[in-house]
Amino acid sequence: MALLQIAEPGQSSAPHEHRIAIGIDLGTTHSLVATVLSGKAKVLNDDKGRVLLPSVVHYSNNSTAFGYDANPFLTTDPKNTIVSVKRFMGRSKADIKFQHPYTLVGEDNQMPAFETAQGRKTPVEISAEILKQLKDRAEASLKNPINGAVITVPAYFDEAQRQATRDAAQLAGLNVLRLLNEPTAAAVAYGLDQDTNLSTDRNYVIYDLGGGTFDVSILRFSQGVFEVLATGGHTALGGDDLDRLIVKWAKKQLNIETLNDAEFAHFVVAARQAKEALSDAEQVELKLLDQKLTLDRPSFESIIQVALDKTISVCKRVMRDAKLELDDIQNVVLVGGSTRSYAVQKAVREVFNQEPLCTINPDEVVAIGASITANQLIGNSTDGSLLLDVTPLSLGIETMGGLVERLISRNTAIPVARRQEFTTYQDGQTAMLIHVVQGERDLVEHCRSLGRFVLRGIPPMTAGQARIELTYQVDADGLLSVSARETTSNVSAQIDIKPSYGLSDSDMERLLLEGFQFASEDKALRHLQETKVEAQRELEALEQALKVDATLLAEAELTALNAAKSQLQVTLASDDIDAIEQAVEALKVHSDEFAAKRMNQHIDHALKGTKLDDWSNSN
Ligand code: ADP
Ligand code: MG
Repeated sequence: MALLQIAEPGQSSAPHEHRIAIGIDLGTTHSLVATVLSGKAKVLNDDKGRVLLPSVVHYSNNSTAFGYDANPFLTTDPKNTIVSVKRFMGRSKADIKFQHPYTLVGEDNQMPAFETAQGRKTPVEISAEILKQLKDRAEASLKNPINGAVITVPAYFDEAQRQATRDAAQLAGLNVLRLLNEPTAAAVAYGLDQDTNLSTDRNYVIYDLGGGTFDVSILRFSQGVFEVLATGGHTALGGDDLDRLIVKWAKKQLNIETLNDAEFAHFVVAARQAKEALSDAEQVELKLLDQKLTLDRPSFESIIQVALDKTISVCKRVMRDAKLELDDIQNVVLVGGSTRSYAVQKAVREVFNQEPLCTINPDEVVAIGASITANQLIGNSTDGSLLLDVTPLSLGIETMGGLVERLISRNTAIPVARRQEFTTYQDGQTAMLIHVVQGERDLVEHCRSLGRFVLRGIPPMTAGQARIELTYQVDADGLLSVSARETTSNVSAQIDIKPSYGLSDSDMERLLLEGFQFASEDKALRHLQETKVEAQRELEALEQALKVDATLLAEAELTALNAAKSQLQVTLASDDIDAIEQAVEALKVHSDEFAAKRMNQHIDHALKGTKLDDWSNSN
């Protein structure tokens, strides 16, 4: 969903022409791109008919090679051949503890750069180059510029990793419609969000065994949105490990103690070919140097059992985390090239006691789902299905002190309505300005202003007595309407705000990013503003009380109270939270005394009154 913007009343959104949107699976070992053509999702191949682009970039002095062209350099020039760059995304140098052949430069707490033959390259830049390859491929094949893209990320990616992915996409010149969780994309590819006749919540397991990583996620589909219930996995467990297990077995069979690097590389390639062939054949032959070995399915199964067992125990743990039983799982979806292996499928079938979904090519399913979502987000979907979405940024209202009170937080599924009560700040206040804002920051000035309107005709009441009910409602199209109603008099006012496709994503990105960057700073600012508002309120109340009861105080007391009062007023002009808090405390000593005197006086009055009443009643 785009940012929200104010609409002229009665103005309808512009009719959409067909726009080109793509879905990209930016994988650790392979990346690919898909799009929806004539209502059908389709992966796009390169000029040689290949769908997968190995996520490999080779930098030499005078040229850059990508994908299959970069692969040969993995053995000949490993330092300049960057593979699995996804593992470095959004990570500081200190975070990177796994083994790799690269020279990383940079401060410990910063994003590192790879030292290459073409100079320093950050993970974001390298990912951008991969994304650019796929963007170019899509443009060449669709003969049109790309209007928007959905990029998938692992469900466990944190904000820094997501932001790095966004940055990479932007650097590649892509308009990011959304980052989508990989398991969610897989579920969308199978249309698991389309089953509208099932009104109850449904749970899905997404088992993703790729080249170098294993991820399992449990998704709950509830009220039109996927929610990630639990995730688990191994950052170093995938097809590559299966290959290595086969190599280990082969060495044993052939009585080989050690292999040099070239031999090892050769064995790995042979093992991988054998493994992939076994997905179709009952047995295969491995040609290793000058020898041959036969590998059949039962032996393969027992060779890789240790790896399979690891994935199964993660599945069981994730099920426990999500507090689900086998019966609660509607479907299991297979994702990742390694799930083509019959042995993997068999293991999954056994542990979940059901036939997993694998009719869509498991290394394409994530890109397919991403393209379906992209097509919906860009506004092409003609199937009339309700586009369920989430609010990208929080929606709130400005409260005293320039603070934001959030009514709908970001990532809330739409349609949604939230109601909250507010009250007046001043005695006799008859109007209230309602300022609608969007963003993640605590101060209004750092958020985006969406619109203002005034609720008039509030009956005059003491501050804090009026009850103003504010309703924020976002419909399925992202149209926000805000209404305010004073509950005793029923006066009301409202404003409609509609989504704008014209607004750049970078605005949203900036607002989001700032929200994360300034979280602690905002907390301090919020505390300062709240303290100020509270102090101001106290000063005003004290002022009113002094007008009536100043005579209750001895002259010295009044002087001390006034001095403390002015001291607080002076500090309030500053942003020194400690000074303000001290001044509040100092004033409190005197104002508490004053309050006690006022209380006594009121009690005296009341008691006298009672006596009078008693007396008059008895007459
Ligand atoms: P990633 O998501 O990590 O980029 P992929 O989903 O592309 O990885 O999976 C790559 C892995 O899938 C490789 O280890 C490859 O050997 C394996 N693979 C591809 N095809 C088959 C097959 N037919 N049978 C078994 N494994 C396969
Ligand atoms: Mg993958």
